[in-house]
Amino acid sequence: MDWTKGWRERTWSELNQEWDVVIIGGGITGAGILRQCAHAGLKVLLVEADDFASGTSSRSSKLVHGGMRYLKNGQVLVTLESVTEREYLLKQGRGLVNRLGFLHACLPGDAMPGWVFGTGLVIYDLMARQWSHRSYDTEELRELCPQLTVPGLRGGFRYFDAQTDDARLVLRLLRESISRDGLALNYARAESLLKTNAGQVCGIVLRDTSGGSDRQVEVKGRVVINATGAWADQLRTELGKAARLRPLRGSHLIFPLSRLPLTRAVSFLHPQDGRPVFALPWEGVVVFGTTDVDQGPNLLTDPAISTAEAEYLLDGLKFVFPQLELTFADVSATYSGIRPVVNTGKVNPSKESREHVLWDENGLLTVSGGKLTTFRIMARDALKAVRRHLGRIPFDPELPILDAIPPEAEAACAASKLSAMQCLRLLARYGPGAVALFSASAEELLPVDGTITLWAELRLAARSEGVVHLDDLLLRRVRLGLLVANGGLDQMACIRSIVQPELGWEDVRWEEEVAAYRKLWESSYHI
Ligand SMILES: Cc1cc2nc3c(=O)[nH]c(=O)nc-3n(C[C@H](O)[C@H](O)[C@H](O)COP(=O)(O)OP(=O)(O)OC[C@H]3O[C@@H](n4cnc5c(N)ncnc54)[C@H](O)[C@@H]3O)c2cc1C
Repeated sequence: MDWTKGWRERTWSELNQEWDVVIIGGGITGAGILRQCAHAGLKVLLVEADDFASGTSSRSSKLVHGGMRYLKNGQVLVTLESVTEREYLLKQGRGLVNRLGFLHACLPGDAMPGWVFGTGLVIYDLMARQWSHRSYDTEELRELCPQLTVPGLRGGFRYFDAQTDDARLVLRLLRESISRDGLALNYARAESLLKTNAGQVCGIVLRDTSGGSDRQVEVKGRVVINATGAWADQLRTELGKAARLRPLRGSHLIFPLSRLPLTRAVSFLHPQDGRPVFALPWEGVVVFGTTDVDQGPNLLTDPAISTAEAEYLLDGLKFVFPQLELTFADVSATYSGIRPVVNTGKVNPSKESREHVLWDENGLLTVSGGKLTTFRIMARDALKAVRRHLGRIPFDPELPILDAIPPEAEAACAASKLSAMQCLRLLARYGPGAVALFSASAEELLPVDGTITLWAELRLAARSEGVVHLDDLLLRRVRLGLLVANGGLDQMACIRSIVQPELGWEDVRWEEEVAAYRKLWESSYHI
C-alpha cells in the first residue's frame, strides 16, 4: 500500500489479521528486514513509534564505510563486512551512496604514528580489492587542503569511503518494500507484547501515536522482530530479560561551507583523546563529529548535544584549522543520535564492539547493534532466523542490496530539463516516484537557496511520502532542518505555500505544526 492520501486509515483497517512477520522499529534495521521479507513473499508489517528513520538512522555521520577505527580496535570482521557492503552500495545505490575522498591529517602529538595509519589503509584497500590510498608530505597535504594550518602538521594520507543520506536510504528501502506489498506504518507504537499461554511472543498491542487518535489494536504475528535499535531492551525487559545494550550518544556540529570551506572530507585524531573525528562535506554544509558518550538510562527520542560535547568538537576544529577562527556562532545546526551498542563493560565506550546481534528469546527476535552500512547483513540474518520459525521460505542469496532504477524512469528524467547529476540524485532518492518531479513548474525545479534540494521535492514528499508532522518533512524527507540557517524557519512562508495544500492542513494545524517544529529544532538541532 503506497503513502498517498488516506493511506493511514486504509492501513489501520488492515492491521487486524495474522501477519507472517511483524517488525517493530522503522530505522535502517527494520527497513532492511522489511525489504528482505517482502522479497521473500511474506505477509509483513513494519510499525514505527515515531517517524520512519527518526531514531538513530537519521542522525548518523552519513558514512557508508568500513570504519578504519574498528580495524584499530581489532574488529577485523566488522571492517571486512562493512567494506564489502560499501562496495555493493556504491554500485547499486549510485546517486544515493557516493564515493567520498578523505584526507587524513597526521598531527603533532598523535598517539598513533603515521606509518601505523598507513598500514591500516593498506589492509583497508586490500579488503576492497583496490589500491586507492596514498601518502602526502605536509606541503602536498596543504596544497590539497589549505585550511590545514595547524603548526607541526606531519603530512597525511588520502583514502576513500562513501557517503549517503541516511534517512533517504531508509525511505528507499521502505518504498521498495511497499511496492512488493510490505506494509509500513509510522506513528504506531508497539505498547506491549502479546504472548501465548506458554509465554511465546505472538503479536503486539499497537497504539496510534500520530496525535489524531488514541486508538489501539492487537496485531498478531507468527514472528515478531524487535528492531528498535537503542530502545531494544525496553521490549526485552517485558520478557524478564536483563538489559544488554549500552546506549552511546554521538553528536555532530554543522557549519555552512562559507565558514568551513572543505572540498574533501578531513579526518584526524582528536588532540584531547586520540579518537578519530571527521569533517564531512555533505549536501552543501560540513558535518563534524562525532562524540561517543554514555547516554545513561534516559533514552530520549530526541537527544541533544551537551555543552561538553560541543566544546570537545569545537576545540578539535580550532586546533586543526586555527586560521578559520571558528566559534559557536558559526554553527548552523547540531544533531545527536544514540548508538545501539552491546554492553561488554569496556571502560572506554569507543572500544565497545560494533558487531550486530540477533537474540531469539521466547519467540521475540531482537536484531540490534551493527551499523547503517551493514543493514543488509543484519536483514539476511534476520530472515534466516524467520525461516527457523516459519519453515521453508524463499531466500535469494543473490538479491541485490537495492532495486535497479527502471529504465523508463531514467528515460523520463533524461527527457526533462534536469541535468544528468540531478536525475541521478532524484531517481536514487525517490525511485520511480521521481517521475512526478520532472513535470514540476520551472519555479519548483529551482533549488532551495544554498542547497541542492529542489522545491519540488517538498511537494512530492508532502504528497506521497507518509508525512504526518512537519518535522518528518523538514528533517527526514528533505534535510532542510540540517542544511539551511535556522532550520528553514525563515523560509516557512515559501514552504507553506507548497506543502500546506498537499498535506490538507487547516491554518490552525499549520501554526501548531510550525510551533512544534520550532520547539524541537531549538531543543535538539541547535546549539
Ligand atoms: C552519532 C552516530 C554516528 C553514526 N555514524 C554512522 C556512520 O557514519 N555509518 C554507519 O554505518 N553507521 C553509523 N552509525 C550507526 C547507525 O546509525 C546505527 O547503527 C543505525 O542507524 C541503527 O539503526 P536501527 O534501525 O537499528 O535503529 P534506529 O534507527 O534507532 O531505529 C529504531 C526505531 O525503533 C523505534 N521504536 C522504539 N521503540 C518502539 C516501539 N515500542 N514501537 C515502535 N517503534 C519503536 C524508534 O522510534 C526508532 O525509530 C552512527 C550512529 C551514531 C549514533
